[in-house]
Amino acid sequence: MTAVLIDGTAVAARIRTQVTADVARLASPPGLATVLVGEDPASAVYVRNKRKRCVEAGMRDVHRHLPGDITQDAALAVIDQLASDSNVTGILVQLPLPPHLDAAALIDRIPAHKDVDGLTEASAGRLALGRPGLRPCTPSGVLALLDESGTELPGVHTVVVGRSDLVGKPMAQLLLQRHATVTVCHSRTRDLAAVCREADVLVVAAGKARLLGSEAVKPGATVIDVGIHRTDSGLCGDVDAAVKDVAGALTPVPGGVGPMTIAMLLRNTVTAAQIR
Ligand code: NAD
Repeated sequence: MTAVLIDGTAVAARIRTQVTADVARLASPPGLATVLVGEDPASAVYVRNKRKRCVEAGMRDVHRHLPGDITQDAALAVIDQLASDSNVTGILVQLPLPPHLDAAALIDRIPAHKDVDGLTEASAGRLALGRPGLRPCTPSGVLALLDESGTELPGVHTVVVGRSDLVGKPMAQLLLQRHATVTVCHSRTRDLAAVCREADVLVVAAGKARLLGSEAVKPGATVIDVGIHRTDSGLCGDVDAAVKDVAGALTPVPGGVGPMTIAMLLRNTVTAAQIR
C-alpha cells in the first residue's frame, strides 16, 4: 500500500483564499498584532511569515519588536496597550520568550477575544469545557487536514503522541469534541509502538526526528506528522517517511501540517473580528 499524501500546502492556500474573501466582506480590516521579543532567528522568520500572510489576506499588520532584555512589567504594558487598541483584533506573542520572562503571565494578559493563538488559560479552559472560543492554530490545522482528507472521527481510535500545551493537549481535546476515542501518549508511555499500532488516526507531535516507523502504524491508518526537524539530509518529521508503505494517508514533511498553522492563525483573526 502507498499512502495518499495529504497536501497541506494546497489546503492552506484554499483557507487563505477564503480568509481573504471574508476579510473583504468585513466593514474594516482586522488587525493582527505580532509581538517578537529578542533576536532569536527562527522566531524572527516565523513572525515575518505571519506578517506577510496577514498583509496578503488584506489585514492590518501591527508589529512590536521588543528588546531581549525587556522587563516583565514593560512587556505586560505592551500587551495591555494592544489589548485596548480597537485597531487590533488579534494578539500573538511569539514563543519561546527569553527565560527571564514569565511567558504564561504574558500570554494570559491577552484578552480571550483577541487570543488568536488560543493559548491563554481562558481559551484552554473554554476548549476543555467545549465552549466556543479561539482554538490553538496547529491542532486546528490538523483537524482541518483530517476533514479535507475525509477521515472519519466519531468513534474511531485516535492516538496523539505528545502532551504539550501547544499541540498535544489541545489536539486531544479537539478530537474528543469530534467524538473520537482518544489515547494520549508521552515520553513515559510504555511500548509506544504497540499503542500507536492501535490507532486508526495517529497524530504525532513529539518533537523527535523519525521517532516512529512502520512498526508503529496500523495498515491503512491516517498518520499526521506535526514534527519538523532540520537534518543533514534535509527536513524530516517525527515519523519516518517509510511509513507511507503502511499508512492509508499521510502528511508529508514539509508541506503537511506546517503551512496550516499560519492559515489557521489568519482564520482565527477573522473569527475574532466577526465575534467583535
Ligand atoms: P514539546 O517538546 O513541547 O512536546 C513534546 C511532547 O512529546 C511532550 O509532551 C513529550 O512528553 C512527548 N514526547 C517526547 N519524546 C517522546 C517519546 N520518545 N515518546 C513519546 N512521547 C514523547 O513539543 P511541541 O511544541 O508539542 O511540538 C512537537 C513537534 O511539533 C516539534 O517537532 C515542533 O517543531 C513541531 N511543531 C510544528 C508546528 C507546525 O506548524 N508544523 C507547530 C508547533 C510544533
